[in-house]
Amino acid sequence: MIETLVKSIFIDGKWHTAESDKTEAVYNPATLEAIAEVAYGGEEETNKAIQSAHNAFYTWSEMTGRERSKILYKAHELMLEETDRLAEILTTEQGKPLNEATGEIKGAANFLLWYAEEASRSYGEWLPSSIKSKRMLVIPQPIGVVGAITPWNFPASMITRKIAPALAAGCTVVLKPAPETPLSAIEIVKILERAGLPNGVVNLVTGNAEAIGSTLLTSKDVRLITFTGSTKVGKYLMRESADHVKKLSLELGGHAPIVVFDDADMEKATTLALASKFRNNGQTCICANRLYVHESVQERFTKLLTEKVQELHVGYGLDEGTDLGPLINQQASQKVQAHLDDAVEKGAQIVCGGKRWNGDLNGYFFHPTILSKITDDMLVMNEETFGPIIPIQPFSDEESVINKANDTDYGLAAYIFTENTSRAIRVSEKLEYGIVGVNDVFPAVAEAPFGGIKQSGIGKEGGHHGMHEFLEMKFVSMGI
Ligand code: ADP
Repeated sequence: MIETLVKSIFIDGKWHTAESDKTEAVYNPATLEAIAEVAYGGEEETNKAIQSAHNAFYTWSEMTGRERSKILYKAHELMLEETDRLAEILTTEQGKPLNEATGEIKGAANFLLWYAEEASRSYGEWLPSSIKSKRMLVIPQPIGVVGAITPWNFPASMITRKIAPALAAGCTVVLKPAPETPLSAIEIVKILERAGLPNGVVNLVTGNAEAIGSTLLTSKDVRLITFTGSTKVGKYLMRESADHVKKLSLELGGHAPIVVFDDADMEKATTLALASKFRNNGQTCICANRLYVHESVQERFTKLLTEKVQELHVGYGLDEGTDLGPLINQQASQKVQAHLDDAVEKGAQIVCGGKRWNGDLNGYFFHPTILSKITDDMLVMNEETFGPIIPIQPFSDEESVINKANDTDYGLAAYIFTENTSRAIRVSEKLEYGIVGVNDVFPAVAEAPFGGIKQSGIGKEGGHHGMHEFLEMKFVSMGI
């Protein structure tokens, strides 16, 4: 299905191999078979890509928002036309079930649409002056060349969520996708190319993450790094960008709690908890990592959830009826196993799942797992599992569960299930998270700001807030 690709580096409107001719294999995580070879670029290619983005900035940033939006609209249309083919590529390189991949492509296209609309609504301000002889203007201007570093868990939507607002604002981009999932990135760039994006406005470098990253970080021409990935790499990017005082927009790890109050609709709560935890096999920074259920409903909730979880099918993402695909690689599988072993050693009980899935595929699959008898010292209650394990712990009162939910260095997303509106508002306000879902576990949409606090990140993606990341507000003070 996927032809072997070697020319995966896109600079100034042309596709290239690496200068060294080195390539890197891309694997299907379900079968562990190599499905393509992509160029292994590094410093040299990244420098050229930055130069190309720098040159293109002057013309792209001077185009009107309306002119830029036309290209984004066209890219949105092309992406939707190709949804099926793109979803198949996404599943093949990432593993998620085809219906989830299809949803991701549509969501990714939606970022192009939303920022196509936003491109011509980049307003400034005319400030009322306190001095009669002065007039004061605030004008939004694109920040410049942007380095965009994206992860493998959402290989399409994490790219358009960064690129679409950057382009709408008038910035140019050097994109570095995750080495596990470069094929979706290549397809998105091809779509932008076909949509008529001028040469150099978006450049793509696949290859050596450290070399590409450090070249982006040490270049004076790159004014902003927008990154989605681990907190560890996010901290490294912060440290290394200090010398040039680069602006950063970071979407990092999370450790999302779900709190189920006794007044929740149990049917809805179990369906949504399942959707939050097992979507993308638990490999989502906003998916539930720990579940707190009120002691009076814990038994009923756990029984209902277990029944639903036992109906989930593990398997090949391209096969119909698959709910959980493989974990991305062996390292991910080892982490899930380590979290499980640690919990069991410390007294957790396996309610269902609790082992690897041994089908006829070579990838790293895991049965969806529920754990009870959970204590706070377990790894699963403190570190991001990034796999299909959900620990359930009972709680007795609102205040103590809020304290538990907030007792983490992370602050990306938290969820509460309740039918009591006052409680929904009260608890939402007290949760120390960038995003709170109330009877909702899908808060990532084009029109709303997405982003964490504490060690989960800096800045927002999505909504008009997402576009502000790529704009500088220049103050023009005029004496008249
Ligand atoms: P994960 O552990 O989920 O793969 P990472 O933070 O390691 O998360 O990866 C997210 C993105 O960051 C990927 O594109 C990866 O290649 C990139 N990355 C990893 N290390 C570096 C680095 N030192 N410099 C720049 N990018 C990096």
